[in-house]
Amino acid sequence: MGSQRVTNPAGKELQALFGERLKQQEPLAKHTSFRIGGPADFWVQVERPEEIAAVDNWASYVGVRWWLLGGGTNVLVSDLGVRGIVFRLGRSFAFSEWRFNGTRAYVRAGASLPLKKLVLQAVEQDFTGLEFAEGIPGTVGGGLLMNAGAFGGELADVVRAVELITPRGQHRRASVDELQFGYRHFSLPRGTVVTAVEFVLCRAPHEVVWERYRRAKEKRERTQPRGLPNAGSIFKNPPGDSAGRLIEAVGLKGYRIGQAMFSPKHANFIVNLGGARAQDVRQLMREAQKRVLERFGVDLEPEVRLIGEWSE
Ligand SMILES: Cc1cc2nc3c(=O)[nH]c(=O)nc-3n(C[C@H](O)[C@H](O)[C@H](O)COP(=O)(O)OP(=O)(O)OC[C@H]3O[C@@H](n4cnc5c(N)ncnc54)[C@H](O)[C@@H]3O)c2cc1C
Repeated sequence: MGSQRVTNPAGKELQALFGERLKQQEPLAKHTSFRIGGPADFWVQVERPEEIAAVDNWASYVGVRWWLLGGGTNVLVSDLGVRGIVFRLGRSFAFSEWRFNGTRAYVRAGASLPLKKLVLQAVEQDFTGLEFAEGIPGTVGGGLLMNAGAFGGELADVVRAVELITPRGQHRRASVDELQFGYRHFSLPRGTVVTAVEFVLCRAPHEVVWERYRRAKEKRERTQPRGLPNAGSIFKNPPGDSAGRLIEAVGLKGYRIGQAMFSPKHANFIVNLGGARAQDVRQLMREAQKRVLERFGVDLEPEVRLIGEWSE
């Protein structure tokens, strides 16, 4: 599909901009950790900041929406796919450079850099502050958007500033006092793209940093399912409780619809047993929300982001 000739007129303009990089009817299942999702009308990996503006201009001109994916590890893409254009920041220097300032412990990381890589680099250089994020897949940009966290830590604790491209195509640096984080949430106006994140870490003795990293790794391996495609926690934890505990308590651990199943290892994970449909996952989510609301009066809020066209 990737290098097929684009025949519709609007697509031709995009192809003039991106050439062979532009793909039509690209299956998004390929770009998500869930391995679920229908096709995007158009898909492109942008390599330069100006290309973000080009996508934005094209989408407003044609009257369609654009969507941005990071690592695709926190999304559920509809079986019907996405109308409009989906893009991802490529691994060019512009988006994936990372730099440590050894004396002041400041780190600047491009938004497309894998978060795991940043964590490992920090640990190897005896910087503490990011060890909790060991094993969180996806990119620095996606991690920021989700305020990714684990084991009592979250990215908001160590972010100092964010570099952005605004909906008007302006480059901006926003410092931490302008940023609004919540639990698995970061406020960002629609149409804004994060291009880099600055972190502030602390130097610590080598053994201390490695021990924190090792403990996080060991805990993740013990508690989370491995081997089957998933998107991490499906629901946010309600205040003072855990979504996994509630889902298990209503009898859904191991429960299955089609090829999607609440993991027998951790009930707040839905795993794709092979060929699961987004619709199966949504039905499982609805079932959990219904049962948990009826039994505990708790409204489970999805952590995973729904993308694309949904029939209901
Ligand atoms: C096995 C597994 C374990 C996980 N464990 C954890 C965990 O412990 N803790 C945790 O918090 N999460 C966890 N997750 C969920 C997920 O990995 C995180 O939320 C991750 O930070 C998402 O990053 P991503 O790059 O994949 O973002 P995506 O899923 O691609 O996107 C998430 C959102 O961010 C937006 N976005 C992405 N990049 C940018 C950007 N540059 N600018 C603006 N918006 C952007 C997207 O549009 C989308 O709305 C896990 C997932 C899996 C599969």
